Amino acid sequence: DAPLPDLVIVGAGLFGLTIAERCAEELGLRVLILERRHHLGGNAYSERDPETNVEVHKYGAHLFHTSNERVWEYANRFTSFTDYRHRVFGKYQGQVYSLPMNLALINQFFGRSHTPDEARALIAEQSSEIATEDASNLEEKAISLIGRPLYEAFIKGYTAKQWQTDPRELSADIITRLPVRYTFQNGWFSDTYEGLPTEGYTAWLTKMADHPNIEVRLETDFFEVADDYKGKVPIVYTGPVDEYFANSEGRLSWRTVDLEESVVDTDDFQGTGVVNYNDQDVPYTRIIEFKHFHPERERTHLPGKSVIVHEYSRFAEEGDEPYYPVNTADDRAKLLKYRELAKAEPMVLFGGRLGTYKYLDMHMAIGSALSMYDNKLKPHFTEGAELTSGGIDA
Ligand code: FAD
Ligand code: UDP
Repeated sequence: DAPLPDLVIVGAGLFGLTIAERCAEELGLRVLILERRHHLGGNAYSERDPETNVEVHKYGAHLFHTSNERVWEYANRFTSFTDYRHRVFGKYQGQVYSLPMNLALINQFFGRSHTPDEARALIAEQSSEIATEDASNLEEKAISLIGRPLYEAFIKGYTAKQWQTDPRELSADIITRLPVRYTFQNGWFSDTYEGLPTEGYTAWLTKMADHPNIEVRLETDFFEVADDYKGKVPIVYTGPVDEYFANSEGRLSWRTVDLEESVVDTDDFQGTGVVNYNDQDVPYTRIIEFKHFHPERERTHLPGKSVIVHEYSRFAEEGDEPYYPVNTADDRAKLLKYRELAKAEPMVLFGGRLGTYKYLDMHMAIGSALSMYDNKLKPHFTEGAELTSGGIDA
């Protein structure tokens, strides 16, 4: 029998990789990562398209951004970042608008120019029907922030396509980060730091695991080898929490995205990286054109061609990639039961987007892994503190 590692990590996404890197580098532990896919990196994984040499994010467009100093410093140990600033445009009824809601969009949508104060007054009036503090779901929250006309044009149809759930049943936090700006500033994110990994996501993620104490075992499903490790060695589990417990409390609902990739015969398909399709009757939610994420690589891309991806969103069925937690009231009730089960699970910590059933951006996955390392793993391995999950890491 092979000797047991000091720590087993299920899932080679950013959460698992961060835990592995810290435990191997700082504590000298021997870490085994089990990953069921054929590659590491989780959903942030990317590949160069062999025909055009354009980097394609295989699980949907990934834009890195953070205001967390520690996460930024940590990520920069493994990669530098370009100065890419993400912008998103939205097509609605035959026109293209600059998102997020900003003065250009407001002027274009309402068909006349507004000063910042005039626009503020207009939106204040239109959004007065609901107070933001009283908003209990996505629709109310959106109307309380931007008013009904903008909600109906830019949010309602898009959200219905993306979630296939009535916006009144969706959690208000989904759109907490949709700002309204009374300026022409149209950067999609408002964080201190932003950029794309200069050599690509896979180079970054591979470097995190590049340590003599870390073994990544690909194409290995934890559930097929669980008996070798459960109860014998600490486990950090970043797969879906319901799957860990064999769906005993019922399946949590997830949204998946069908990504239809194609190479088109043009140098430039849409002039920018992301165009959202806000009309409800267009079946896809957005089109990504990957070459625009790396204008500095222009000379390395095959001329006359471009890689685009149409995104179609739908409920995940068994066997689909679980991408976004839907998080209805019913899901939250099930999650509470899974948290109780997790508390009783010896020597297993649950983390990451799937393990906590939480919408986590990359910087949040890294930040949350660094906290688990500081608060649970390091005290356990250095001082013998008991390893209890206290449930799923909040
Ligand atoms: P994951 O990356 O999902 O990794 C979990 C890993 O566990 C997977 O590789 C999976 O195969 C593996 N696994 C699961 N079960 C098992 C098992 N039983 N055995 C072995 N392995 C298992 N974040 C941003 O910051 N910016 C963005 O623009 C952005 N865009 C996104 C777009 C999409 C479509 C999606 C889905 C996510 C996006 N994210 C974005 C979020 C980002 O992908 C997550 O923050 C990140 O993936 C979280 O890392 P993780 O390790 O928690 O999970
Ligand atoms: N959203 C919308 N219209 C848009 C863009 C976003 O209604 O044009 C809403 C939608 O509900 C979506 C949420 O805002 O789920 C978050 O959008 P984002 O583009 O950040 O989602 P992601 O890139 O994570 O899929």
